[in-house]
Amino acid sequence: MWKVVRDSEGNIQTWQLVDINPSAERSWGVKRAEVIGKTADEIFTTATELFMPIVQKAFSEDKAQSWEEYFPDLDQILKMTTVPFGEYFISTGTDITEIKRAQNEAKQANQAKSEFLAAMSHELRTPLNAILGYSQMLQMGTFGKLLPKQKEMVGVIVDGGTHLLHLVDDVLDLARIESNQLNLNVEAFDANGVINDCVKWIDEKCAKRRIRIENSFAHGPRYNVRSDRRRLAQVVANLLSNAEKYNVDGGVITIGGIATEREYLRISVSDTGSGIDPSSGDRIFELFDRGVDRPEVAGGGVGIGLAVSRSIIERLGGWIDYKSTLGEGSEFWITVPLSDNEDVLIWTDDLRVGIDEIDKDHQEIFALTNLVSRKSLDSDQIGAVIQQMIAYTRYHFSREEVIMQVAQYPDFVEHCSGHRKLEDQVQNLVASWRRNPSTETRHDLQHFLRDWWRNHILAGDMSISRHAAGKAKTIREELAARGLGRPP
Ligand code: ADP
Repeated sequence: MWKVVRDSEGNIQTWQLVDINPSAERSWGVKRAEVIGKTADEIFTTATELFMPIVQKAFSEDKAQSWEEYFPDLDQILKMTTVPFGEYFISTGTDITEIKRAQNEAKQANQAKSEFLAAMSHELRTPLNAILGYSQMLQMGTFGKLLPKQKEMVGVIVDGGTHLLHLVDDVLDLARIESNQLNLNVEAFDANGVINDCVKWIDEKCAKRRIRIENSFAHGPRYNVRSDRRRLAQVVANLLSNAEKYNVDGGVITIGGIATEREYLRISVSDTGSGIDPSSGDRIFELFDRGVDRPEVAGGGVGIGLAVSRSIIERLGGWIDYKSTLGEGSEFWITVPLSDNEDVLIWTDDLRVGIDEIDKDHQEIFALTNLVSRKSLDSDQIGAVIQQMIAYTRYHFSREEVIMQVAQYPDFVEHCSGHRKLEDQVQNLVASWRRNPSTETRHDLQHFLRDWWRNHILAGDMSISRHAAGKAKTIREELAARGLGRPP
């Protein structure tokens, strides 16, 4: 506790130590009796300089102030809080040097992965862009008129190059998702604008095949969503591209939007194309699944688009689904949280612990937890999602507990008991949902999980990373040895 010392005009000049607690004695390396009554300048070399703006602000606003500061005298980064009262103030400091160092190390490791992806992307995309650029110039006659056969050949190069470029983008996205490098930029925005831009993008392609587009977002009500603008556009563009690709010449694409009861926007893209064999089921969302091979369907892809779309949309707190009639057409839809939807868990960079396995698991668990509130599911399906969520959570806890052991994490026992408590509470909430499978009991479960995970990650898991720093390889080996290298 300090008392301010003012000059004759009432300006704060310095402050005098009234009392300190034993932790401060230890941290400053002083004895209480030696420093009581001394001014900050007499105890530290830079304290007045560092603190003055904060102390002035605390007194002028009569409000507590918090900030982080590096103290050269102590060689520590402290999280400081200063609370003014009368002519006194209390300053508390928590040493966060280790946490900051671990966060920096995690950030650097992350950066190395991002740099690898950026380099790969550059190596693949630069020559491809050159191929595309020059062949398009040839096509346009920039270097002289081409013979019809030459033009046809160049057309094949342009189509092949464009296809390859999309493929490279998709593969890089999958690599990003797999290595937790999909950085989401989540904000509230108007979905209509994003969707209308996507429609403009596919317009020309559709016109060539006389495919009519009916877009309810062009005139209908406006929807404010909480999502990642660029990623949402990517998913909608992928659905539109499929609706064009698998449509018949002269067909129709209909884009519709409705706000669902539980604060989601449902965006649907329907086509009048070939439809999907019922035996395909959910497999079409899996990587490299191209539906049932049907030679009559021209221009098929490689089966990456829907896998990427599903990962992205689930990470954004929504889901994707479809229904289809063979020979008549398909309807694909995605749900995106509306901006006032407080229920969903979206994993963003501030929840990154810095240990790959833990971050990956958290993203999976968030996606599964969000699916619990998926309204269109019947109770058997919800039961299955809950089962999957519980199984994944158990697997994650087992992994995290191995990681804590490898890292010699000091709060191991306490942390594990937190895990056991969660398992018990979830069992109870699930039991109460089973007794009374209502929307309310389901939301009780989801809300509990939402709050628990956010708190647990921020308060508990973050502190594991500083002990695990530099042990990534041992962690991977230990998990593999215990059969915890792959999800259940
Ligand atoms: P791709 O289209 O590149 O093969 P996707 O992952 O986007 O990859 O789609 C996977 C498969 O799902 C496609 O190969 C196709 O068989 C089927 N499919 C997707 N969208 C449609 C659609 N609108 N109409 C018919 N089939 C579709």
